[in-house]
Amino acid sequence: MYSIYGVKVGQSPNWFQSGIQPVYRSDVGRDQPVHYTIWVLKGDKRLILVETAFDTEVTSPWPRNAATYGTEQSLAEAGVDTSKVTDVIITHMHVDHFTGYTKFPNAKFYVQRKELDHCLSSVNVFPKVFGFPLRAAQDTIALMRHWRLEAVEGDNELFPGLKVILAGGHTPGLQMLAVETNKGTAFMTSDNAYLYHNLKENLPVGYYCNLVEAAKAIQTAKKSVSSEDMIIPGHDYALWGEKKVVQIF
Ligand SMILES: [Zn+2]
Repeated sequence: MYSIYGVKVGQSPNWFQSGIQPVYRSDVGRDQPVHYTIWVLKGDKRLILVETAFDTEVTSPWPRNAATYGTEQSLAEAGVDTSKVTDVIITHMHVDHFTGYTKFPNAKFYVQRKELDHCLSSVNVFPKVFGFPLRAAQDTIALMRHWRLEAVEGDNELFPGLKVILAGGHTPGLQMLAVETNKGTAFMTSDNAYLYHNLKENLPVGYYCNLVEAAKAIQTAKKSVSSEDMIIPGHDYALWGEKKVVQIF
């Protein structure tokens, strides 16, 4: 059983300025702030993080106009010491989910092999389309060489009560998560649903590599839970408002 906390480590003014449609072919949500998140899963015996958010030294000049609160300081508010974190699941390697790897010197990162292959492949000579910085690519290889990055193959129960599900969609190797909580199975869609609106209307996000997979991912999430309020979208402002740390389940 895990308790799930969301920790906001940064925020951009709105989706429109970030150049992303949160809902496919729509302007729904375009004026909502975009927050950058690390999820903390506190289990009986383990502490596991999901995502690392970003290190602006790796991602510069992105994100423009974003407020940043500091990874170490933000996690400390949730009772987490970044130097003691040992396991971090990365749903996908977009810069706001992965490039904060620099902040966790003792952690091992879990990424789908398909995602890894995509990020290190030749498509990333188009940084404005796929956006994986050269330094992140170099550091990813160094992490692998030091046995600190595990390539996960498909669906997998990585830890007791915590399963990853290979979905693709938003990115080629995006993995979603099913997490056992005392309220039942919670499901984390990551960026296959940015907002609750994606779930409610069965509309994929407006940023995707494979639209069919992105649409199917929403159905997978719904089939995995006993009620839809157990699904946690990746970036909905409603989860936080102005708070920085929230307990979700
Ligand atoms: Zn993303």
